[in-house]
Amino acid sequence: MLNKKSIEDVDMTGKRVLVRCDFNVPMDEALNITDDRRIRSALPTIKYILDNGGMPILMSHLGRPKGKADMKYSLEPVAKRLSQLLGIEVNFIDDDLVVGNKTKDMVVKMNKGEVILLQNTRFRKEEKDNNADFARELSELGDLFVNDAFGTAHRAHASNVGVAEYLPSAMGYLVKAEMDVMGKAMANPERPFVAILGGAKVSDKIAVIENLMDKVDTLLIGGGMAYTFIKAKGFGIGKSLLEEDKLELAKELMKKAEEKGVKLLIPTDTVVAKEFKNDTAYKTVSVENIPEDMMGLDIGDETIKLFSDEIKAGKTIIWNGPMGVFEMANFAKGTNSIAKAMSESQGTTIVGGGDSASAVEKAGFQDKMSHISTGGGASLELFEGKVLPGIDAVDDK
Ligand code: AMP
Repeated sequence: MLNKKSIEDVDMTGKRVLVRCDFNVPMDEALNITDDRRIRSALPTIKYILDNGGMPILMSHLGRPKGKADMKYSLEPVAKRLSQLLGIEVNFIDDDLVVGNKTKDMVVKMNKGEVILLQNTRFRKEEKDNNADFARELSELGDLFVNDAFGTAHRAHASNVGVAEYLPSAMGYLVKAEMDVMGKAMANPERPFVAILGGAKVSDKIAVIENLMDKVDTLLIGGGMAYTFIKAKGFGIGKSLLEEDKLELAKELMKKAEEKGVKLLIPTDTVVAKEFKNDTAYKTVSVENIPEDMMGLDIGDETIKLFSDEIKAGKTIIWNGPMGVFEMANFAKGTNSIAKAMSESQGTTIVGGGDSASAVEKAGFQDKMSHISTGGGASLELFEGKVLPGIDAVDDK
């Protein structure tokens, strides 16, 4: 069990509570927020602080402004959306220095019942360096620090790790929920424990495959990375994605799975096309018959059935990475079908953020999953068995 303080373990009456949120939301060209899930996920913590007499001062990064003020990455649109969701006006402080005099003044004058949102912490280059002076400057705004930014928990930055050096700290509800569900799955899963991995590259997933090999009963591999495994089994893969230098590793991983009694399944059929685009002719072939001039862009129906049966039989199921080029409608069936199989499973279903989370939402299955993580990178590092610095920095109970 995670032995870290949560917001219910600290008294916040009359205190200024500095909260690191993850408001790194996608926006379109006109700066409209296209998905506000991360803002909605922060509401329970903010409401709890208000209801318990604390004064929330929120901070977050947004995008990659490269250490200087760039209004394209201002958090002002987030303040507007948050105000609508909370039903009270959030005071956004448009301060390029994040903690300049303007901010300090407003924080001193802050009253109970008010909410403040600071400017994008990445307007300061010290943020990503986890600079101690910047962390101390931030900490001086509050009496207490709450980390509720799971999406950034795998990074050691000033606003999520440095600041915890200077203030008593606790996890917010979102971080606690993410850690409770995913921590339990990794430490003490109900079995069968099934993991589904996809995405473009084997090299990005080596650490996670190696760690999961000691934990899961079944490992399903799809997506672009699967073709390196298919080739390692001795089949031709045409023009499909291949990491030549990972062929030996793929062979070793398959051998290791066999030795450990882990059922490692790779696609038995695949959807192939001559070109990497949606509007092109495509067909499904067995992995034994991939034409030399074609590339695999999705898993085929037989593989969908094979993987879905394993998913439905699982008691704990974790998923990271699409099964095909799901951005193109003709090659999204595999990914959507995995989302559907998970939605029909009776087990604990965990979607590890990023592309898989978008696919689940696009297919409308979000309410049928036990947990959809708000952090693709952070959940992947948890699946790799790593300690997340943003969680580690929080005070122990
Ligand atoms: P990742 O960022 O590693 O999770 O990979 C996600 C990307 O992998 C998505 O943009 C997919 O389009 C891509 N992808 C999945 N399957 C394939 C495939 N068979 N060939 C090429 N790219 C793929």
